[in-house]
Amino acid sequence: LFELDPPPWELEEPQQLAIASVVFRDAPHGPYDYSVPSELLEKLRPGMRVEVPLGRRKKLTAGWCTQIDHNAASNRKLSPVGTVLDEQPLCDSHLVRLVLWMSHYYQCPAGQIFDALIPASVRSSAGTRQQTYYSAEHKARDPKVLEALPPKQKRALTVLIQSEKPLTGPQWTVLAECTQAPLQALKKKGLVTTQQRREMTGTPSLQTQKSDGEETETHPLTKDQANAYQRIVAAIDSGQAKTLLLHGVTGSGKTEVYIQAIEHLVKYDRAAIVLVPEISLTPQTRGRFERRFSSVAVLHSQMTPAERHYQWQRIRRGDVQVVVGPRSAVFAPLPRLGLIILDEEHDNSFKQDTQPRYHARKVAFARAKSLNIPLLLGSATPSLESWHATKTGVAELISMPKRVGDRPMPSVQLVDLRARDQRGGGGAITRQLTQAVKETLTENGQVILLLNRRGYATTIQCPACGHVVSCPDCDLPLTHHRDGGKAVCHYCDYTIGTPPWCPACRFDGIRYGGLGTQKLEMEVRAKFPQANVARMDSDTMRRPGSHQKVLSAFRSGELNLLLGTQMIAKGLDFPNVLLVGVINADGALHFPDFRASERTFQLVTQVAGRTGRGQRGGRVIVQTFSPEHEAIQAASRHDYETFADAELQSRRRFNYPPLGSIARIILRGSVEEQAEAAANDLTQRLEASRTALGYEVRILGPAPPPMAKLRGKFRFHILLQCLDPLQLGATIRRATDRFKIPDKEDVQYVVDIDPLDM
Ligand code: ADP
Ligand code: ZN
Repeated sequence: LFELDPPPWELEEPQQLAIASVVFRDAPHGPYDYSVPSELLEKLRPGMRVEVPLGRRKKLTAGWCTQIDHNAASNRKLSPVGTVLDEQPLCDSHLVRLVLWMSHYYQCPAGQIFDALIPASVRSSAGTRQQTYYSAEHKARDPKVLEALPPKQKRALTVLIQSEKPLTGPQWTVLAECTQAPLQALKKKGLVTTQQRREMTGTPSLQTQKSDGEETETHPLTKDQANAYQRIVAAIDSGQAKTLLLHGVTGSGKTEVYIQAIEHLVKYDRAAIVLVPEISLTPQTRGRFERRFSSVAVLHSQMTPAERHYQWQRIRRGDVQVVVGPRSAVFAPLPRLGLIILDEEHDNSFKQDTQPRYHARKVAFARAKSLNIPLLLGSATPSLESWHATKTGVAELISMPKRVGDRPMPSVQLVDLRARDQRGGGGAITRQLTQAVKETLTENGQVILLLNRRGYATTIQCPACGHVVSCPDCDLPLTHHRDGGKAVCHYCDYTIGTPPWCPACRFDGIRYGGLGTQKLEMEVRAKFPQANVARMDSDTMRRPGSHQKVLSAFRSGELNLLLGTQMIAKGLDFPNVLLVGVINADGALHFPDFRASERTFQLVTQVAGRTGRGQRGGRVIVQTFSPEHEAIQAASRHDYETFADAELQSRRRFNYPPLGSIARIILRGSVEEQAEAAANDLTQRLEASRTALGYEVRILGPAPPPMAKLRGKFRFHILLQCLDPLQLGATIRRATDRFKIPDKEDVQYVVDIDPLDM
């Protein structure tokens, strides 16, 4: 009767466990659960880095804690968290949730997203050092203890007790006029304790752009600007997550509206993020913000690690009113964020083309929505995504259809490149443009020439009739593959032999596109010896500061002819530019991409917007093989709406974005057969997943992309299309869930949700 088997006190106590969820940058990515030892309970919070045991590894592995469940009752045996690496969370709970959302939506391990979110310089504490602080123990305050000490130690301890706050070693030795020895002796006796703190070693000298000879004063707003301002302020004051699209023509004064809206915001001690394309981070843009706000943090790619870390700390402390930066600035850890602005929201640089392949507009939308703050998108040529959003009630449209100061939009002339009499001596610059450049230089005006020759793709075009060889199924241009003389649709893999003559007019000099800015520069120098020329493209602008140097030489008039790629199409505001020439508007048009028309329209409109900004007006000459093309016609009339509405209609036919969603999976490997086999395997899994879920997903490929071999790796693409982004995501997630490539094979794959370049 009195047998206790087992005795109750020997039963395991029901445990109240704290369980931490941890994710990792490298595979396996987690999340995995760990128990939190009681001594770490106080310290550990989500958004901190920890070191934990992982698998059979001997050493602990670093990861990110995303969640702590304090009341978990678990009878599983969990490994404990080993160490906590941070004193403060590097991400607050709001940003941790943003990471988890991104991980789900972009199908990218959360551990990799944390690394993108928190600059490397912050993770490595660049520009800081560990500092030891000393403070007196309670028992050291006992006079008897003090009296018993040797004189040097007594003096040192008295100084420490009298000091209200803990002292660093150097501070203490100076105040006590002693060496290190007495301090160490006191520590050994347990009369003082030490504490480690990380501190910045110094304040990096941050360059600010106070003046570059530009006017600085506040402008009274025009009627359109005032209306835009009022509606933005109303959105700020509403405390709701509203998305606003500010469609303002080039030169309508969008920046002034942003600035005044932020001025309203900072009155309530709140802060804003302004995202701009990296290329717009010119002294001009920086200066505008730095002159109008007392604390601006400008983030850009040429900062030193210490500068970046310093700015990040300022931002997180709440010392900054405005953060201006490229796409990664969307993660700026402002504690009182009240508004996010994307200037030039259509710009492709907002999409990151390495993991995590996020789009800053989408992330900004998610962040604004979860904070209940407005998101303001601004552009003269809004992306069709944003334009579509205004039609479906997701975003509110604000228009500024006129330039400030009643300046007219520049007149645009189209020059037909098919016309024989225009082809002056085999060069790229037609007679008409040559004439216009000469006139402009004679009048002491400045000239911008745009040639947007993008890397590799070689389109097949007839110089006589302008016909472009295209895919019958996708309506996209075929790409000429040098190996084997094939013309391939890189979307669906439709292949024909490259036609020796034009299928439309039988002209037998069919051409594979191929003029670049370098060749153009030679032609310009030969044709206009009186011009002071600079070329701006990613080749010439490699060195830090070269971009700014060219622009300030152009501003001062030292240079009078600027030629380059799309770099010169963006944001520049120079009143003396009287002529803009587009060398070949078709360059972007016949790229194998359903966004080709949109890009062309944007590019021509944006570069045209660089002229007519001063008293002397301006004109634009656009050379093209397709003067009748809708995108070029609409751009020449500055008619965004007609273009965008027509383009939406045509996207609807193929369910291209923004009406449907697309995703791309890229596989690459050093052995072609292995990469191809993996691509085939994954495609089958995608098909099976689609069937199991019963979703209507179009799966194309696998097909080799135009650059089928890149850096020694063979590449294959699988494209997926679906009307519903959720179904698309689920189909991929299900297919990749158990998809494993054998370890011995060198094949990797990445998922690219909402890819921008095809
Ligand atoms: P956008 O970004 O729309 O192309 P900007 O913001 O660059 O236009 O403005 C074009 C020019 O007009 C700038 O030089 C700016 O200083 C000037 N500007 C802006 N607002 C006003 C205004 N209300 N009155 C006079 N000039 C203005
Ligand atoms: Zn096709």
